Formats: sequence, C-alpha cells, structure tokens
Amino acid sequence: MFRSVLIANRGEIACRIIRGARKLGIASIAVYSDADAHSEHVRTADHAVRIGPPPAPDSYLNAAAIVAAAVGSGAECVHPGYGFLSENAEFADMCASAGLAFIGPSSAAMRAMGLKDAAKALMEKAGVPVVPGYHGPGQDEAELTIAAGNIGFPLMIKAVAGGGGKGMRRVDAPSDFSAALASVRREARLAFGNDHVLLEKYIANPRHIEVQIFGDRNGNIVHLNERDCSLQRRHQKVIEEAPAPGMTPQLRAAMGAAAIGAARAVDYVGAGTVEFIVDGADDPQGGFWFMEMNTRLQVEHPVTEAITGVDLVEWQFRIAAGENLPLGQHDIGIQGHAVEGRLYAEDPANGFLPSPGRLIGLQWPSLPGVRIDFGVREGDDITRFYDPMIAKIIAHGATRMEALDRLAGALNVMLVAGPQTNQAFLKALCEAPEFRQGRFDTGFIDRNLEELGAAPQALDEYSVALAVAHRMRSSFCRRPDRRNADGTQAAGSLWDAVDSFQLGGARTLTIPLHAGGRNGLASVEIGALAAGQTLPSFIVRFGAARADGVIKRAANEWIMEDGDTCFVLRAGVQTVVQFAAEARRAAPDDPGSGPAHIVSPMHGKLVALYVGVGETVQKNQRVATVEAMKMEHTLLAPATGRVQEIAAQPGAQVAQGAVLIVIEPEGGPGHGA
Ligand code: ADP
Ligand code: ADP
Ligand code: MG
Repeated sequence: MFRSVLIANRGEIACRIIRGARKLGIASIAVYSDADAHSEHVRTADHAVRIGPPPAPDSYLNAAAIVAAAVGSGAECVHPGYGFLSENAEFADMCASAGLAFIGPSSAAMRAMGLKDAAKALMEKAGVPVVPGYHGPGQDEAELTIAAGNIGFPLMIKAVAGGGGKGMRRVDAPSDFSAALASVRREARLAFGNDHVLLEKYIANPRHIEVQIFGDRNGNIVHLNERDCSLQRRHQKVIEEAPAPGMTPQLRAAMGAAAIGAARAVDYVGAGTVEFIVDGADDPQGGFWFMEMNTRLQVEHPVTEAITGVDLVEWQFRIAAGENLPLGQHDIGIQGHAVEGRLYAEDPANGFLPSPGRLIGLQWPSLPGVRIDFGVREGDDITRFYDPMIAKIIAHGATRMEALDRLAGALNVMLVAGPQTNQAFLKALCEAPEFRQGRFDTGFIDRNLEELGAAPQALDEYSVALAVAHRMRSSFCRRPDRRNADGTQAAGSLWDAVDSFQLGGARTLTIPLHAGGRNGLASVEIGALAAGQTLPSFIVRFGAARADGVIKRAANEWIMEDGDTCFVLRAGVQTVVQFAAEARRAAPDDPGSGPAHIVSPMHGKLVALYVGVGETVQKNQRVATVEAMKMEHTLLAPATGRVQEIAAQPGAQVAQGAVLIVIEPEGGPGHGA
C-alpha cells in the first residue's frame, strides 16, 4: 500500500479522501489556494502545501503546481477527487511522468470517454445502447440542421466537451435551432475551449440512472448497483438515491451488464460511473441509453457506499496499489435504501442565486442512519471562487420511506446560518408526495418550484420577533464600547431605544430593524422589574407575531447573532434581521501597531470611496461606504494618517473582512512598534 497521497482537491471531497487514506495508514498531503489556507481539508490533512492564489486556474486547476507539490512533498500517489483535474488525461500523464501513481483509470480510458461524441461512437461499437442522435464529425450549421431534421424535435444540443450541466440546450422547434446552436457553441468555447457539439433526441420524462462500476488491473470488472439522480436543476443533480425506485432485478442486470460492457471497451481500471437516460416517468422500464461515462469518483458515491457497505475510496487506493477487487459480483448486495441531498449556499427563493458568505452558525445533527460529508466548520467562508456546495447529507434506512424521513429529519434540525441555503428546499423535496411515491423525472423540480418553496416568500414575522427578543436579552447588559469580532463597534443596547411612553414602571420601546428586504419597526412592551428579577419581562410584537422574553427554542429553531445581525432559522428557513444602529465602523484606536487596515464589515458592495492613495485623512474621517442588505455602512478612518493603498474600487463586491483601505498612521511605519 502507498505511504502517502497528495489530494488534488478541496472541500468535502478532500476531507473524505483524507479519512479514507487514514483508514489505510496512508499519510495525506493537502493542497490549498490562498482562499483555503485555513480550511478544513488543510486542518485535517497530515501535511499541506500552498499551490497558488484563489482562482481555480491558478491553483486547483494548475497541474504543474500540483505535480510539483506532490514531488516536493514525497507523495507516492495523487487522488484527484471529482471536478477540477479529475478527468484531465494530460494531468494523469504528468503524474505518471513524475513517477506518481494516479488514483484513477489510465489516461487512454479517460481520453476515450472524455468527449461525448467519441464515447458514444465507441459505445455503439461495443454494443451498448446510446441515445439516438448525431455525433459525427461534421460541424457546419447546414449539416447539423439536416441532422436535426432527421432526429426530430424536441432535441438536445450538447457540447461534446461539456460537463456539470453546462453547454446543453433543449430545442423544441426547428425555428429555434440556429440560435440555440450559436449559444451552445459560445458557452462551450468559453467553458471548455471546444465548441464541437452533438445532437440527441430529447427523451421525454426521463430518469437519470447511473451505474457505479469498478475494475482492477486483472480485467475484473463489477458493478455496485445503480443510483437514481433524476432530481435535477439545470441538468445538475440535487438529490440522489440508491437503489432506483421501480428498478427490477432484470433491468438492473441489463443495465449492470451494459455498464460493465462500456467499461470493458476501454479496459477500465478503478472507480467509474456509466450514466444512462431511462425513458418513462413512472417506472424505468421503457428502455435505457448510454449518455456518458464519468471516469472518477462521483459526488453521490456515498449512497452506493451506504447500500453496499463498500468503502469506495478504500477500493480506489487498493486497486491503484495493484490489488484485485475485494469482492466479486455475487458478493455485492443491497441493504436498504439511501438518499443524499446536496446542501448549497444558494437562495432558492431568489432564483437559486449563489449566496457565498461566512458560516455564522453550523451544527450537524447526530442522528441514526445519517452521514454528513462536509469540508467547512462554523466561522469558515463559503467563497465565491469555488462550487457553493456546503455539505452532502446522506441518510440510510431499511426502506426508501425511512431514508427519506431520516434525511428530512436531519434537514429540519440542522443549523446552517449565514449564507442562504437550500436546506428547506431539500427538506420539501424529501416530503413531496409525488416524489415519495416514486413518480418523478428530471423535470420534477422545475414543474414544482412554487410548491417546493423556491419562490419569493413572505417575511416570517415570528422569526423577526424572536430575533428582537434574543437581541433584547443579549443586549441587556451591553456596554456602549462593545466591539464586534472584527473590531467594528457593535450596535448599542436595544434597551436604549427611544421610549414611546412610560407608565408605572412599564414602558414600550420601538426598535427599528431591517429584514426581508425592507425596514420595519418592532415594539417591545417591558414590564416593571419584579423583586429578585435580573431581566424585566417583555413582549415583542412584529406584524402579527409576538414573542416573549423567555425564549423556548424548539429543536428546529436556532438564533445566532453576529455583530448587528441576527440569523433566525426555523425548519431550515433563515430570516436575517439587521438592527439599524449608527454603527461607527472603525477599527480600535491603535495607531502604534503599523498600518491600519479598514475592512468591510460584511459581504456587500463598495458603493463609494471618499479618499485616494497618498491623501491625508483625519481620525474618524469618513473614508468609504459599503452597502449590504440594502443598508449603507459608513467606514471611518481609525487614525490620522496617509492612505497607503486602496484595495477595492466602487462597484466591487467585497467579502466580509476583506481589506478595503490601508492607512499608514502619522509617524510612518514602525512607529511605536
Ligand atoms: P456529478 O455527476 O458527479 O455531479 P459533475 O460533472 O456535475 O458530476 O461535477 C462534479 C462536481 O464537481 C460538481 O459539484 C461540480 O460543480 C464540480 N465541478 C465540476 N467541474 C469543476 C471545475 N472545473 N471546477 C470546480 N468544480 C467543478
Ligand atoms: P453532463 O456532462 O453535464 O453531466 P450529461 O450528458 O450527463 O451532461 O447530461 C446531464 C443531464 O441532462 C442528464 O442527467 C439528463 O437529466 C439531461 N439530459 C441529457 N441528455 C438528455 C436527453 N437526450 N434527453 C433528455 N434529457 C437529457
Ligand atoms: Mg453527466
């Protein structure tokens, strides 16, 4: 077995591979970009090597830097994970040339399956059914138009080099063909540097069913059953499960044999997935066709691990080290049912817009049958540089219903605060009656967006009232000089808010706040302080909701506070409440400790800069305005000095904690050090 592995990836999959390596006594070497210097995979690996700046082309896609890191750190093999360089044949060759074992198939197999047109042609030759269509070499529009006419509409135009659901368009009528072709080509050229396309008959009400296969160096190939990944959005998987609902032993045997045939055609070694499209919404009996082969570990591999009991990463290491497959086909069974949900930092109520930001609260439940694969901890940032996946939640049960209930149960109680996420959306999917009955296809999500809560939602007034109650409690003893973790001054105590009336010791406060995209007012009725009480009793009213000072938190309710913002989570739905404060956002007075960095107090947009490089500023002079959540925050100079650097320009999106301006305090660098 290998003694050390370099993991050419990040996030949850890097963490997953580190765990797999540890189990086999293999030392793990992580690589990281500057954006990930303190991330979980770096913290948990045995060693870590910096490979470059945050953009993926400069770091996780920088094959030369990664190979150099592997050689420099004495790694014996490289595990590419998924995404990034995992299906890059040149990278596999570079590893081999440097004397590193590549945990994956041969580069020849990767090349054979790398382009969808060549792969389909190869599969046809091997007798594997492929989606009918055109995958020839001719690429001029006239030729493709004729081919499209022969296939009929609706049809699919696909970039041959495509992946991740990109470079794909459904065309419903001949009149739309030309424009759709141009747009696929544009997208493909940009994303993949290759604008070749193929055409496919559009399969109506399709199910996406894929087969996990594994091969060893002695020509043994087995399949580890199928996964159904039909719940998709923009051709990207959202929920995956194993086995596929409605699957019969006969169809499983036929699809398994076809997948093994596909793998055999390229002498496949290691873990791979053969993706099929299956006709028929209600039961997958209509016929199946090869779509593509992914020559790597798949995001959704844990559902297969759950039902087969096989550790796929362990197998990957064993096969790469030259061992034979640990099990034969007859030893691989199915125990129960498993479902996975991909938890993303995105906002379903807002067109699934990515929602990067700091994870203010993160707590995973520990529940029977639930596995959570994650690569972040509370306080980490979901950066805009990479995929916004936060974690994968996998539930295993004796039956499909039990697995779905367990997944929904985990999603109901888990805390993910800060970015908006699809937590409640995933839960709604697990609870959707048609899906539970097994009546679904790849169009299910798009047809049911509203029912699944993926539409603008009314503000949850009770959550706002809870936030105010929480804030009242937490700010009861707040001193006026209290500062946030980032050094900015926190809002004053809510108890100092303007009194509207005062009578016999009881009083009512009006609390201005911002939530759900608008400003609002909450009222708080405060009772007289009774003998022996440290906190007076109070009642918060916001709209039709009310909450009292004794917060009884249900298992699926969470309240987190970060500076002037409260995050309330109820059954996976997050309400963000910002308390309007005259925040004097300046760093602590400390002119003696070198340059002062003025940082953005939150994720937002730099809307104005009032100073330029070289200018002299006075302490507490207004230097910039950042807008976040429709509120403007004025940043003040922490000390008198000279502007040394401006790190962002008006209009730029800025991350929480990002340095915007550097000021050299009066007296120059080193002064007072
Ligand atoms: P799967 O069928 O396993 O979902 P995909 O082709 O959709 O495979 O991609 C796997 C994962 O890797 C997805 O989460 C995708 O967002 C991510 N991914 C794919 N390509 C890249 C890339 N070049 N850089 C970063 N992440 C990527
Ligand atoms: P990618 O490389 O991006 O994963 P795929 O070829 O695997 O691309 O297709 C992604 C998804 O698009 C499939 O899972 C399926 O839902 C849908 N799709 C692909 N081809 C067809 C088709 N011919 N008819 C209907 N849906 C399709
Ligand atoms: Mg695919």
